Amino acid sequence: MQITDKFDSGNIRVIDTSDAANIQLEIKHDHQSEFFQWFHFKLQTDPINRGEAQEHVMHITNAGKSAYVKGWLDYQAVASYDREHWFRVPTQFDGEKLTISLTPIYDSVYFAYFAPYSYERHQDLLHNAQMHPDCQLQVLGQTLDGRDMSLLKIGAEAEGKRSVWITARQHPGETMAEWFVDGLVGRLLDEDDGVARALLNKVVFYIVPNMNPDGGVRGHLRTNAVGVNLNREWLEPSMARSPEVFLVREKMLATGVDMFLDVHGDEALPVNFVAGCEGVVAYDARHKALEDKFKKIMIAITPEFQDDRGYGKGAPGKANPTVATHWVGNHFRCLAYTIEMPFKDNDLLPDYSVGWSDERSSLLGRDFLTGVYHMIDDLR
Ligand code: ZN
Repeated sequence: MQITDKFDSGNIRVIDTSDAANIQLEIKHDHQSEFFQWFHFKLQTDPINRGEAQEHVMHITNAGKSAYVKGWLDYQAVASYDREHWFRVPTQFDGEKLTISLTPIYDSVYFAYFAPYSYERHQDLLHNAQMHPDCQLQVLGQTLDGRDMSLLKIGAEAEGKRSVWITARQHPGETMAEWFVDGLVGRLLDEDDGVARALLNKVVFYIVPNMNPDGGVRGHLRTNAVGVNLNREWLEPSMARSPEVFLVREKMLATGVDMFLDVHGDEALPVNFVAGCEGVVAYDARHKALEDKFKKIMIAITPEFQDDRGYGKGAPGKANPTVATHWVGNHFRCLAYTIEMPFKDNDLLPDYSVGWSDERSSLLGRDFLTGVYHMIDDLR
């Protein structure tokens, strides 16, 4: 058989494929970084086995040294034959190696940490959106690998309108974040959708569907082309290390921000949740009231969202100011949330065949738009 990662967002190192029942693999580190967790590879079965339904057992032998070892507990990898529908496959973790087992029913099968969102699909999203009369596709500048930093500006500018910013995939392996934006943008541009139309009367949206295109194409988990974690760059970004953040931050300073959502995935927790700004210096009673209202609304909108489990609350004044949500929430004194979705499943509403998925991420993005709609008149 043959295993390869030579494609967009591929990541695997082949150690030994001599025995289908004992395939040895490793995940590669992000370039110039210690982080690794994202994997994405293709398995081509031997024609001789066609019709024999041979089980393939793949051991990722360095999983126990990955960035988030707790991410492998109760985790099931995803696979796809058609690169559209991704289903969960039997996966075990023994503390050192992650073992994925599948008896392929077709010649070729893809495996990944989560349903990939390719660079080509990213371009499709941007270019479909730009054809809407209320949408502009802007290029803010280039990444270190020379890719465009693309921004969708949705909604006509007018006096008194609010500026809502949404960014996704600062951590490129968190592909659910771009699936979320895919759903949100699709709804926002639907002229038959009342929530979208009402929002566009009051808001200009600034949306960066992919904050880290270099990391995405390179098959990174967490960093850009030079191993920099973009979500630790917001206090002092530079064109040399973190042009992605520098360019977006400059644009934010030009437009102002009334609300900010930064979309991520969490390796360990099997729920959707948000993390806010309680630890930033400028946090006050008004800021807390906005956060509490938004969470209450999201809980009312969808059973996919909850607020019982999440990250610990930051101590007053102790928030890391280099994190996007903290920097934006503090600088603009606005409602700012990091949204986290699971790699595993939402265990409040489990789906054993697909787990938390591309489709569910897109639907959650659509639902968050309803949440934004309910907040607009409170933002200033
Ligand atoms: Zn993240």
